[in-house]
Amino acid sequence: MPIENDGVMVILSSPSGAGKTTLTNLLSKLDNFKISISHTTRQPRSNEVANKDYYFVNNDEFQRLIKNEEFLEYAKVFNNFYGTTRTPVINNLDNGKNVLFDIDWQGADQIKNKKLDYKLITFFILPPSKEILYERLSKREKKDKIIVQERMEQFERDVLHWINYDYVVVNDDLEKCYKKIHKLIDAEINHGSKDYDPEFIRKHVEKLTA
Ligand code: ADP
Ligand code: 5GP
Repeated sequence: MPIENDGVMVILSSPSGAGKTTLTNLLSKLDNFKISISHTTRQPRSNEVANKDYYFVNNDEFQRLIKNEEFLEYAKVFNNFYGTTRTPVINNLDNGKNVLFDIDWQGADQIKNKKLDYKLITFFILPPSKEILYERLSKREKKDKIIVQERMEQFERDVLHWINYDYVVVNDDLEKCYKKIHKLIDAEINHGSKDYDPEFIRKHVEKLTA
């Protein structure tokens, strides 16, 4: 059973480009919320800051962390390794801080299966449409057509994991989506009523996968 004063774990996953990093950053501005900074072997993007957005490490260092069993979870995504180290997460939770995870479905599954003694709330973020996803990816990837194409192809597979999450949210208007997630987290923590329509989500997924 989670202890009353412990923080909660909040996972945000989504197909690439749906907006989970943007939403995680917004949520992290709330009182008492901390982002879990992942390790990755991927190269930094031009706007990314080392040790803030990610700990950028080489393959050898990542393998060393695996061997030392320092990861709470890790996975290979788009040919790179990504992982969450255990110690900072547990320290924050034990100090009553809520921890936000921007991780893929493989990592979310691993954390869920660990059945840790902390409350866990999982969100899957969807784009309003595939056309809008394509636009967002093109903008972010500075029109690197190969990366955009690769991530659009991956979308078809990633979207299928929506079913394993507590809540699925459509990121159309950023502010509205942020508020929706914030309210759901608040309702989960304070046992309040939840404004959530699973039927709307089921229909939205049907449209995205048609
Ligand atoms: P993810 O982390 O899911 O891959 P990002 O958070 O990097 O996605 O968002 C992808 C791109 O879309 C970024 O350029 C971001 O600024 C933009 N974006 C995110 N949410 C919205 C939104 N609601 N409306 C318009 N653009 C958005
Ligand atoms: P990006 O390269 O776009 O930053 O991230 C690619 C994917 O890796 C995203 O789905 C992101 O959520 C996921 N990711 C980032 N950090 C981690 C992590 O620590 N573990 C796992 N499993 N996935 C991660």
